[in-house]
Amino acid sequence: VTGIVPPYNAFSAQGTPEGDLIYVNYARTEDFFKLEREMNINCSGKIVIARYGKIFRGNKVKNAMLAGAIGIILYSDPADYFAPAVQPYPKGWNLPGTAAQRGNVLNLNGAGDPLTPGYPAKEYTFRLDVKEGVGIPKIPVHPIGYNDAEILLRHMGGTAPPDDSWKGSLNVNYNIGPGFAGHGSFRKVRMHVHNINRITRIYNVIGTIRGSVEPDRYVILGGHRDSWVFGGIDPTSGAAVLQEVAQSFGKLRSGGWRPRRTIIFASWDAEEFGLLGSTEWAEVKRPELEVDNIWSYYWLKFSCFYDGFESKSLYESWLEKDPSFENINFPRINKLGSGSDFEAYFQRLGIASGRARYTKNRKTDTYSSYPLYHTIYETFELVENFYDPTFKKQLSVAQLRGALVYELADSEIIPFNIEDYAKALKNYATSIYNLSKKHDQQLRDHGVSFDSLFSAVKNFSDAASDFHRRLTQVDLNNPIAVRIMNDQLMLLERAFIDPLGLPGRRFYRHIIFAPSSHNKYAGESFPGIYDALFDVENKEDSRSAWREVKKHLSIAAFTIQAAAGTLTEVL
Ligand code: GLU
Ligand code: CA
Ligand code: ZN
Ligand code: ZN
Repeated sequence: VTGIVPPYNAFSAQGTPEGDLIYVNYARTEDFFKLEREMNINCSGKIVIARYGKIFRGNKVKNAMLAGAIGIILYSDPADYFAPAVQPYPKGWNLPGTAAQRGNVLNLNGAGDPLTPGYPAKEYTFRLDVKEGVGIPKIPVHPIGYNDAEILLRHMGGTAPPDDSWKGSLNVNYNIGPGFAGHGSFRKVRMHVHNINRITRIYNVIGTIRGSVEPDRYVILGGHRDSWVFGGIDPTSGAAVLQEVAQSFGKLRSGGWRPRRTIIFASWDAEEFGLLGSTEWAEVKRPELEVDNIWSYYWLKFSCFYDGFESKSLYESWLEKDPSFENINFPRINKLGSGSDFEAYFQRLGIASGRARYTKNRKTDTYSSYPLYHTIYETFELVENFYDPTFKKQLSVAQLRGALVYELADSEIIPFNIEDYAKALKNYATSIYNLSKKHDQQLRDHGVSFDSLFSAVKNFSDAASDFHRRLTQVDLNNPIAVRIMNDQLMLLERAFIDPLGLPGRRFYRHIIFAPSSHNKYAGESFPGIYDALFDVENKEDSRSAWREVKKHLSIAAFTIQAAAGTLTEVL
C-alpha cells in the first residue's frame, strides 16, 4: 500500500543525535530513579531506548529529557504487545515485528493547540513561535518495531538489568548499557529525524438537537474522527457509535420527539496531535459551556472483552468481570485521567464527564492498549475478523451511550447521585491520608493535619444527604424549583474547579482529579496534595516541601467545603 504515513512521533524535534545507547525500561519516573539513584547510571548525552506501554509516551519523552538524554527511541516489546498463542496480523490480532506504534509525544498539560494556549486558534489569533510552543519536546524521538529493537538491544553491554521487571520477551539480555559489548563497543547509535511541524486547518463536525424545555442546557456526546492510518479501532469503533447514536436520535426526531435539553454530537479532529479539536472547540465555546453544560462523554469501564456472557445484561457482566475495589457489589468506575477528548471539558472547565467503553480484561495491563494500536494494521478487517465479528460489542456500546444521553437530556431531574460523589471523596481522602502516614514522624514534626480535609468531606456528605432528601420533595409542577435543583446538580462539578489551576499546570484546574503527573492516561485524586507529598520524598528542602503539602491540604479542604455550600437550600 502506498501513501501511508510512515511511523513517526508527532512533534519530535529535528536532529541527528549520536551517542551510546541506554535501555531505560518503560522510561517511567521510577525507572529513571532506579537508574540514577540506585544504579548510578547517567543518561546525560546518551540516546535512550524505552519500551512502549504502562504510561503515556509523552511522559517517557519528558523523563528522558529531564535525565539529559539527547534522543529517545520508543519500541514495542512483545512482552507488552504480543499475546501468547495468537498469530500476528493478518492471521491474528498480534503485532508483527515490523510494525511500529505512531503517536504524539507532547506534554501539553491541557493546553490544546501548542501555539494558542487558552484561546481558540482562529485566523486572527495571536500565535506563539514554534520554538516556544507548549509541550514540544526538545529532543528527537522515533518509534520502531521489535525486529529493529532486537538488533539494537542484542549487543548491549554495561550493567545487567536490575531485576526481571526490566526484561521484556525478546531473546536478548536486556543489559542497560551504556553502549555495546565486545567488538562493537566502539559503535554508537545515531538517529536521523526530519520532522517538520506545520500549522494546518482541522475540522470539527458538530450536530445539534435543540431542547424543547431547556434549550440552554447541553448534553454532549463526542469523540474524535482523525486516525493515524486506517483507524479500524481508534477512532472508527467510537466514531461509528457516535454516528449510530446520532442517527437513532434523528429517527426519534422525525417522529416529532424533542429532548427536554439540547443534545450536541461532536466529531472532533486532531485528537492524535494532542486533543486539539476538542480543546479548541472547548475554547471557542467556553462562555456557553461554563454555565450550560451538564454532562459529556461518560466513562464507565466495563470489561467484556472476553465472550460467553450472552445471556447476561451488560450491567451483570460488567459487575461480574470488573467489580469495584471498594465495594464488590458495584461495578468498577475508574477515575478520569486524560489522553482523550473529555480532558478540556472535565479537567479544565469542570463539566461532569465520563467515558463508557468496552475494554480488555483488566488482569492484563490497563495502559498498554492493544497490540496493533496506532499501527498500519489497525484496519476494519482487524475488527471484523477478530475483535467484534458480530458487531455486537459496538452495538451494546451504542445502546449504552445512547441511553445515557437520553436519560441525561430528557429526565426532568438530572440523574446524578451526589451521595456517591461524597463516598468517593471519603475514599480519596482516606487514601491520601494513608499515603502520608508513611511519614508519620514528619507529619507530627511539621504539624501537618488532615482534620480540615476530613471535616470538609463530612460536611459535604451531610450536604449531599440533605440535598437528596429535599430532591425527593421538590414540587415537580414548579419549573423554577426544578430548575434550581437541577442547576445545583449540574454545577457541582464546576465547584471543584480552582481558577488558579494546579502548580505548573494551569489548564488542569479540578482539585479532586487530574491526569497523573507521571502518566497522562491515569487519573490521580487530590493531585495537588499527591504531587506535594511526592516532592517530600524527592526534594532536598523538606521544610518547604511540607509547607507545600499543607497549602494543598487547605486548598482541597476549602474547595470541598465550598462545593458543599453550593448544595444547601437556596433561600
Ligand atoms: N489518544 C492519543 C494518544 O494516546 C492522544 C493523547 C493525548 O495527546 O493526550 O496518543
Ligand atoms: Ca488554543
Ligand atoms: Zn489514538
Ligand atoms: Zn483515539
